[in-house]
Amino acid sequence: MCGELGASAVGRRVTLAGWANARRDHGGLVFIDLRDHTGIVQLVVRPEHDPAAHGVRNEFVLQAEGEVEIQVDSLRIVSRSTPLPFQLDEEGVDEALRIKYRWLDMRTGRMQRNLRISHVAIAAIRRTMEDLGFLDIWTPSMTKGTPEGARDFLVPVRLQPGKFYALAQSPQLFKQLCMVGGLDRYYQIATCWRDEDLRADRQFEFRQLDLEMSFVERDDVLDVLERCVVASFEAVGREAPARPFRRMSYADAIARYGTDKPDLRFGLEIEDATEVTRGSAFGVFANAPCVRYIVVPRTFSRSEHARLEEIAKEWGAKGLAQLGQISKFLSERELASFGVEDGSTALFVADEEPLVARVLGGLRTHLGRELGLAETGEEIFHWVLDFPLFERDEDTGRWTFLHHPFTAPMPGSEGFEADPGSALSQHYDLIWNGWELGSGSIRIHDAAMQEAIFRVMGMGEEEQRAKFGFLLDALKMGAPPHGGFAMGIDRFVALMAREPDIRQVIAFPKVASGADPLTGGPTPMPASVLRELGIASIVEPSEK
Ligand code: ASP
Repeated sequence: MCGELGASAVGRRVTLAGWANARRDHGGLVFIDLRDHTGIVQLVVRPEHDPAAHGVRNEFVLQAEGEVEIQVDSLRIVSRSTPLPFQLDEEGVDEALRIKYRWLDMRTGRMQRNLRISHVAIAAIRRTMEDLGFLDIWTPSMTKGTPEGARDFLVPVRLQPGKFYALAQSPQLFKQLCMVGGLDRYYQIATCWRDEDLRADRQFEFRQLDLEMSFVERDDVLDVLERCVVASFEAVGREAPARPFRRMSYADAIARYGTDKPDLRFGLEIEDATEVTRGSAFGVFANAPCVRYIVVPRTFSRSEHARLEEIAKEWGAKGLAQLGQISKFLSERELASFGVEDGSTALFVADEEPLVARVLGGLRTHLGRELGLAETGEEIFHWVLDFPLFERDEDTGRWTFLHHPFTAPMPGSEGFEADPGSALSQHYDLIWNGWELGSGSIRIHDAAMQEAIFRVMGMGEEEQRAKFGFLLDALKMGAPPHGGFAMGIDRFVALMAREPDIRQVIAFPKVASGADPLTGGPTPMPASVLRELGIASIVEPSEK
C-alpha cells in the first residue's frame, strides 16, 4: 500500500495501485502523487519509457512498478476519469454535489476517516455484545402499522390490495417477544424508518444499537451500554470516558438545566427565586407562579440583550429581565440572595414553571455554545433517570406516554391509574455533551398492567385488542421481567468523528428535501405499477 513504504523499503521493487492525486509534468520527468486510503507516494516517471504518463489526469486509476524511491519503469493507466465536478482538496463544496458524486467524496480524507471510524466503533460494539452473550436476531422491517409515535413509511401489499405494512420505526415489540420466547439477550444493529423532517441528526432511515435483556434491573442495562461506549472509544484510539457515568433524575435535570438532555460540560445552572420574590415590590415577580434565573459570567450590551430576549421569546417567554434593569424595584434581601458579582449578568424569567424551565434551558444551551463555555475538550456522558410515566398531550389534552407505552412504572408508582400525572417510570436516557444518544426502559411484563396503561391513554378494550392483541396474548403466556435500550448509532459515530451532522458518517444519505441526489430518487411510478398495488395517486409529482 502507498502508506506502507518507509525508509527500509528503499531499493525494493514494488507494484502499487491507486488514484492519481496530483501530477506535475516537466516534459522529461513526470511526478505523480499516487493515493490509496493508507497514504500518498510520489512516482517519478520517465516518459521516454512510459509516454502514458503525459496523459494522466487527477483521479485516473494507475498501476505502477518500480524501485523505491519509485523510479517507475512500468506505468499502466488502469482506468480513466472524466473531468471532475469538484476537486478532492476543494473546501466548501456544496453538500448536495458531494452526495450526488458520493463515490468521489468518499475518496477524501474526511469521508475515508469517517466511514472507517464508523466501522471500527460498530465492530467494537458487536464484539462487546458478543462477549456479553447477546444473540444477533433479525426482526422484520415490514410490520403492522400503529398510529402512535412518529409517522410511518407504508408498504403496499400486492397480494392484499388496499392493505399496507409499515416499515418498522424500531424493533420494540419484536425484541420484547424474543424475551417472552426465552432468548434472554437480544441485540441488533437495527435499521429504523421514521417519516420525519430531515435535520442535522435525522434521516428517514437510521441505525440503532437495539438490545433487550431478561431478568435484569435498570442498572444491568446501563452497564451494557457503558461497556459499549467505552469499547468504541478504545477501538478508535480515544481516551474513554470514566465509568460509571454520572446519573441525574429527570426532575433535577429540568430544575437545574431546563432540559432532559443537559450539556454538562459547563455550569450556568438555573437558580430558583420564587420563594425570595414572593412579596416582591416588583409585581412581575410577585405575581408569577415561578421565578428563576441564570448568572452568566459576562455583561451584555443593549443590543446583545435584545438578541437574547428575542431567543427567549422564540422559546415562549414574554420577556427577559436583567438584574441591572430591575434592581431598583428589588429589596436588599432579594438582591443579596442572588449574589451576582461584578462583570456577571443575572437573566430572569417569570412565568409558569414548565415555560420558565424551557426558556432558561434554551438560553443556557445557546449561551454555553455561543460563549464557548462548552469547548472544554471534555466528553461528558451521563444518564437521565426517573422520567414521568405520562404527560398531557398538548393537542388532545389526553394522557400520553413519555417514552413508549410499554415502559414499566417505578416501584411505588404501580397505582398510576388513580393519578397518572405524578407516576414515575423506569425510563432512562443516555446523553453525550447535550445530545440524546438513546433511550430505554424496564418494560411491563404483566398483561393487566399493560392494559391499565392503554386505558389511561384512553384506549378501550376493543382498540387494545385490535392494535396490541398479540402483545397482550404474549404477556399472558409466561413473560419474564425484561428491559432494554436503543442507541442511535449514526449520531454516536458522528460525535465520535467530531462531525456536526450524521450525513457525514453515512455512506449514502439523503438531503433535507427527502431526495437522494445520487440516484435521483424518489421517482413517480407508472400507473400500471400503482394499479397492480391497488393504489391511486391523487397528486401530480412536481418537476423539482
Ligand atoms: N424502541 C425504543 C426506541 O426506538 C428504545 C427502547 O425502548 O429500547 O426509542
